Amino acid sequence: MEIIDSHAHLFLPEFEGDYPGVLQRARESGVRRIVNVGLGPRTNALVLDAFRETPGLHPTVGWHPNSVEGLTEADLPPLASLLDLPGVVAFGEIGLDYYRGKDFVETQRKALPMLLEVAAGGRKPVIIHCREAWDDFFDLMGPHWASLKAVLLHCYSGDGRVTKKALDLGCHFSYAGAITYKNAEALRDTIPMIPADRLLIETDAPFLAPVPKRGKRNEPALLALTAESLARARGLEPAEAAALTSENAVRLFGLTGPGL
Ligand SMILES: [Zn+2]
Ligand SMILES: [Zn+2]
Repeated sequence: MEIIDSHAHLFLPEFEGDYPGVLQRARESGVRRIVNVGLGPRTNALVLDAFRETPGLHPTVGWHPNSVEGLTEADLPPLASLLDLPGVVAFGEIGLDYYRGKDFVETQRKALPMLLEVAAGGRKPVIIHCREAWDDFFDLMGPHWASLKAVLLHCYSGDGRVTKKALDLGCHFSYAGAITYKNAEALRDTIPMIPADRLLIETDAPFLAPVPKRGKRNEPALLALTAESLARARGLEPAEAAALTSENAVRLFGLTGPGL
């Protein structure tokens, strides 16, 4: 089975000391490419470094909603220059997180439109992190949809109502290990709603390890578990789900060059 992990953070301290092993196990499990997602200025630099060393680790540059306190207009031009670098495949992750960021909802609401300006008119898709903030998300995105190339809802967690709305707006959807959880019935029910050409999967490693590794550190080699769960929800063979989601990732992000 060959598969693409559309969202991971391989620079985080959870992988320290084990990074070559993580890449090796990913290769052995059939993971051909990984989108390595930057979370802000410091880690945007790290994903660019990792790409120079390992071409199958495709970098994105972003600014995570949990760390937008202190973001100013002056931060935007440097971010835009990074986004234009060859090899950078998307802008993000950016978004809203009211689960962890309840204390600075207003700051997040101000930051998202500022960040969206960076991607406006761009040639690269936007990766959105949205957690427990869907109404504000749709509200703030309103004037921006038309200016964005494509929008991927990463680690998708919306219900049926949110899914219908996001489908109408043309979003892509990336499902993570949460779809393997026993209590995730409602989330799994959204999987058959997504058109085949807008469906992706990811680990979000080191977070959200799929069952039976739930609660442990996640890594790209575990992506097959999520692919199996997604396949069951759509009545596909796991290899079909892997092929479908990989084609979609290649097309959405324009992934080229050598793999892992
Ligand atoms: Zn995220
Ligand atoms: Zn992430």
